[in-house]
Amino acid sequence: MTNHQPDPGVVKSIQDAYQILCVSHISPDGDAIGSLTAMGQILHYLEKKVTLALQDDVPPELMNLPYAHSVIGADDVGDTYDLIICLDSSSSDRMGRVYRPSHHRHIPVAVIDHHITNTKFGTVNWVEPECAATCQMLVYLTDMLQIPLEEPLARSLLTGLVTDTHCFRTPNTTPDVLAVATRLVNEGADLAKITDQTLNRRPYNVLQLWSQVLPTMQLEDGVIWTVVHQDNLDQIGNPNADSQLSSVLITADEADISAVFTERIGDDGYARVECSFRAKPGYDVGSVAFRLGGGGHPPASGCTIDGNIHEIVPKVVAELQQARKQKKQQV
Ligand code: 5GP
Ligand code: MN
Repeated sequence: MTNHQPDPGVVKSIQDAYQILCVSHISPDGDAIGSLTAMGQILHYLEKKVTLALQDDVPPELMNLPYAHSVIGADDVGDTYDLIICLDSSSSDRMGRVYRPSHHRHIPVAVIDHHITNTKFGTVNWVEPECAATCQMLVYLTDMLQIPLEEPLARSLLTGLVTDTHCFRTPNTTPDVLAVATRLVNEGADLAKITDQTLNRRPYNVLQLWSQVLPTMQLEDGVIWTVVHQDNLDQIGNPNADSQLSSVLITADEADISAVFTERIGDDGYARVECSFRAKPGYDVGSVAFRLGGGGHPPASGCTIDGNIHEIVPKVVAELQQARKQKKQQV
């Protein structure tokens, strides 16, 4: 059986609070929305007053999860909560504009996360890098709190497990992960449907974007990368359409590390680069992202760097090549 017991301080903070704000990370994925909506259901079961908030919209394919429609944006977040629960976020900046220190500094924060790069920024922190998803941790929390895993809750939790493990294909898919997933399926969560909705589909314009940027990809010293310019995003009319391309690039046999660099230029001309990294088993892009101000896991990580894309890309590619070389020396 598992040793992943919930942190007593986090459990007590939940039990002691009544009015609770739950938040997950910017550009939310399946584990962010799965854990946020699962926590909403857990807290409703415990008869708490719950607010779910995200800086960015819930992706359309996750809108079918319970309470997804009740998630509010940053502008609607108040400051009268007893507790903030921060899910699947390795650092406080991942909450984006939902967390405003000027309004929220006096409120205790409970961090529940599985990123090895977590900075433990909460008042109480439960961080389990061996868990494949924050949703896996919430199964252990429901056990401790004796909350039944009925279908809607199981659906939210399995969504996070399926998306963070790419349907149980990542090396961190341990027997514990499979045991938890089996329980969720037994409670009625529809594995085939969740997989189809979250992993097997993407908007057509995302494929159009890939067709624009794949011709410019490069492979050098085991690192494969491509660049998405603001122009590419403008042309397809979907500024958030950068997901999963780094996972496609890492499938190249000749590559050990992949990167996608997405340029974002604000209305004020302020430029930044969103970096998405992937690594083959045994290589570590989590520590590279952490050094660059971001975070993640050894096989999948990311960061955002302010500045000009033409200057940033060569520097980061060189860092990734260096990280690959260090690993090669260890073998
Ligand atoms: P993706 O490439 O799918 O956007 O992100 C892969 C992993 O890196 C996820 O676990 C995500 O949480 C983490 N990640 C991506 N971008 C950032 C970032 O800007 N900051 C931090 N701390 N983590 C990131
Ligand atoms: Mn996660």
